[in-house]
Amino acid sequence: MFKEIKPKIFVLNSGNDGSNIYFINDKKKTLIDSSLAKNFDLIKKALAELNLNPEDIDLVLHTHGHADHIGCSAFFEKAKKAMHPFDASFVNEKKDDFSYAYFFNQKSYPKIDKFLSDTEIIDCSTLKLKVIFTPGHTKGSICFLEPKNKILFSGDTLFCGAYGRTDLNSSNEEEMKSSLEKLSNIDFELLLPGHGKFLEGKKGQKSNLRNLLSLF
Ligand SMILES: [Zn+2]
Ligand SMILES: [Zn+2]
Repeated sequence: MFKEIKPKIFVLNSGNDGSNIYFINDKKKTLIDSSLAKNFDLIKKALAELNLNPEDIDLVLHTHGHADHIGCSAFFEKAKKAMHPFDASFVNEKKDDFSYAYFFNQKSYPKIDKFLSDTEIIDCSTLKLKVIFTPGHTKGSICFLEPKNKILFSGDTLFCGAYGRTDLNSSNEEEMKSSLEKLSNIDFELLLPGHGKFLEGKKGQKSNLRNLLSLF
């Protein structure tokens, strides 16, 4: 089931290789990443517990185009699907060697019809999200900053105790370093990553990033 982390902000952890699924249950219903296709029943059930259907979702935001983050997106038929254009170009052409969909035995691809750029503000009604371009894990990776609660949705760029893989197609180690430096200068107090546990506290964010940057 969806767990409420902050007012209107929920998380669903699939318990498998799929990404965390974040849900902003505002007037505009927004998902951040949709996990693997095999987790759709789980998402449907979790939405039903909030008296919602997949058709109620207005927008699916993606931190990047890997298969473990886009798997269920196509099933939200009424939603706009948003991504940075660099990753969207691969996803819209169903490039398996970019998304690694074959690795998860996954066939479904969303049609990305909204393209996000750095510093753009996404209006979810009361909550707003700012796009932060953070290439490195993929060419078009982005994070979303929610300034009211000082939350960073970091996808596979930044985790608690690690940064995302940079050995994949379209990854770039130098870009990852620059992106982590960029995130060091952003004010956030809660890290909500694409996988694994959350990291709370302003001090913790600084030391997490400092430790990771010392690895380059
Ligand atoms: Zn991932
Ligand atoms: Zn990834």
